[in-house]
Amino acid sequence: MIKRRKTRTVKVGSVKIGSAGPIVIQSMTKVATVDVAGCVKQINRLVRAGCQLVRVAVAKRADTIAFAKIVQKVRVPLIADVHFSPSRAIEAIEAGAAKVRLNPGNIKDSKSIHQIIDAAKMHKIAIRIGINEASIRDLKAGDVAVAKRVSLMLKEMKKYVRIFEKRGFRQLVLSAKSSDALRTIAINRRIAETFDYPIHLGLTHAGLPEDAQIPSAIALGSLLTEGIGDTIRVSVAGDPIVETEIAKKILNSLGLYKEPGPELIVCPTCSRAEMDVIKLARQVKRALRDITKPLRVAVMGCVVNGPGEAADADLAICAGKNKAYLYRNGKRIAVVAENKIIPTLLRQLQNL
Ligand code: SF4
Repeated sequence: MIKRRKTRTVKVGSVKIGSAGPIVIQSMTKVATVDVAGCVKQINRLVRAGCQLVRVAVAKRADTIAFAKIVQKVRVPLIADVHFSPSRAIEAIEAGAAKVRLNPGNIKDSKSIHQIIDAAKMHKIAIRIGINEASIRDLKAGDVAVAKRVSLMLKEMKKYVRIFEKRGFRQLVLSAKSSDALRTIAINRRIAETFDYPIHLGLTHAGLPEDAQIPSAIALGSLLTEGIGDTIRVSVAGDPIVETEIAKKILNSLGLYKEPGPELIVCPTCSRAEMDVIKLARQVKRALRDITKPLRVAVMGCVVNGPGEAADADLAICAGKNKAYLYRNGKRIAVVAENKIIPTLLRQLQNL
């Protein structure tokens, strides 16, 4: 059982971020913000996939105008992603953003920051201070020492947080991202020991889905295991639904999120298998698609570990030559021909 680091609670519309509640999954739209219908469609897909907060980039005035329309058409709280322009931040707040993300690397002038804080206070919304390692100006090319990079990011965070606290604003979520897993772990540990604000975790510029998921799981998983992290965004160069799916898997593997529906366990297969176990597992996965009960189903390639997994499963298939042994709650209930495995499994599922 993971013990979360104690944090303040920050309200982002109807969603609360902080150690008192579950870890919040968020993602970002990837269609042009001015394409209101396209954004709404993507946001709704994200919500259906399990995303609880969605960030939308607002780079131009036309984007904040579109943002105001998008807010009206979706039920999930929206975060406005702002860089360089204090005006965009204020426009987004007035347009109904539940949170604004600011990057200390490109909005530095304290008068503008004060105006944003005052608007956020008036509209009772949260702000994320989102540092990106790539935006730290004092970092020189080739400067790779982890300790130096981490201390520069922490210095930047302390300076920025002080501006907000001096103005009496504490509805803050903090994040510091790098494309490097070890530096992401190091900087977030320092932020966790320095502040009591909720932390948003993520690797930035993590790459294509197949390249991004392992470093993201390692960086986010390591920190989450230590109790650090209150909201996560897995960033991949691809469909944001994939980001949400990976985020759910990371949280699920740490016992921090329970996926609705069945859990499928499949052995890796080896030369002992006398049936195409992977094909069978794919068929079983398809058969389970519309089932919402929290079941555990195992597909095993032979008797070596089959009965052991079967003991822990609601239903288990243990493949043999041209046939399979079916177990229910650890008890063998049938031996079925290969072509009858899926219909028999479906019948059994109906009775569970
Ligand atoms: S269950 Fe059997 S087939 Fe599957 S990996 Fe283990 S030994 Fe190999």
